[in-house]
Amino acid sequence: MSTPRIAVVTGGMGGLGTAICRALAHDGRKVVAVDLPTAAERTQAWLDSMQGLDVSVESADVSDFDSCQSLVAKIVQTHGALDILVNNAGITRDSTLRKMELAQWQALLDVNLSSAFHLCRHAIDGMLERGFGRIVNISSVSGQTGNFGQTNYAAAKAGLHGFSMSLARETAGKGVTVNSVSPGYIETPMTRAMPEAARERTRAMIPAGRLGQPEDIARTVAFLSADAADYITGANLPVNGGLFMSF
Ligand code: NAD
Repeated sequence: MSTPRIAVVTGGMGGLGTAICRALAHDGRKVVAVDLPTAAERTQAWLDSMQGLDVSVESADVSDFDSCQSLVAKIVQTHGALDILVNNAGITRDSTLRKMELAQWQALLDVNLSSAFHLCRHAIDGMLERGFGRIVNISSVSGQTGNFGQTNYAAAKAGLHGFSMSLARETAGKGVTVNSVSPGYIETPMTRAMPEAARERTRAMIPAGRLGQPEDIARTVAFLSADAADYITGANLPVNGGLFMSF
C-alpha cells in the first residue's frame, strides 16, 4: 500500500473546512485541520465528529507569516511531507467603502489573501523537491462579480485567483498544480447568519434553486487534489448552482 498523502486544510474546523477534511480523509488522505486556537473540548468534539477518520488538528494563525512557517515545519517533521494544501480559512468584514475602516480592510486581506502567500511560501520548496503538490485556494463568486459591501472580500478573493494562476505557471511541469474554487452561496454558519428574506432572495437568483451544501465544495476540492488531476492547473472552478456563468 502506498503512503497516504498529507493534506492540510486551513480553517479546517469551519463550515466548509469540516466537509473538506472529511472528504479528503474518506479518499485516504492523512488530514491536518488547521484553525485558530480553541477550547480543548471543542476540538475533541470536532475530532469525535470525524468518526475514526485519519484527521488531526493543529493551531495556527494563517494571517501570521512566522506562525505558518512553524506550522509547515512541524507538519513536515511529524508526517514527512505536506502534499496537499487547501487554503480555506476566511473571514468577512463587510462594510461599504465609505464606512470601511483600515483595520477591516487589513484584517480581511491578511486572513483571506496573505495567508495563501504565507503557507505556499513555506510549503512550495518541499512540494517541488518531492515532485508532487496540490494547492487549492478557496475563492468566492464575490471575487468574480463583486458584491455590495465587500470591496475588501472581493479584492482578496479575486487576488487569490491571480495568485493561483501565477504560482501555477511557476510550478507546472514539476508535479505541482495550483487551482482555485469559487463557491457561490453555501449552507454554512456564514450564510445562515443572513436574514431569512435575504436568503430567500438569494435562493431565487440561483438557477439550481437551492443554496449549495458544503459537500458540493468538498467534492470539488477532492477532485482537484487527486493524483490523477495532474493536468488541471491555473484553473478556477466555480461551484455556484449556475448563479454566475462565464467562460
Ligand atoms: P467559517 O467561518 O465556517 O470557517 C472559517 C474558518 O476559518 C473558521 O473555522 C475560522 O476559525 C478559521 N479562521 C479564521 N481566521 C483564521 C486565522 N487567522 N487562522 C486560522 N484559521 C482561521 O466559513 P466557511 O463558510 O466555512 O468559509 C470557508 C471559506 O469559504 C472562506 O474562505 C470563505 O470566504 C469561503 N466561501 C464561503 C462561502 C459560503 O457560502 N459559506 C461562499 C464563498 C466562499
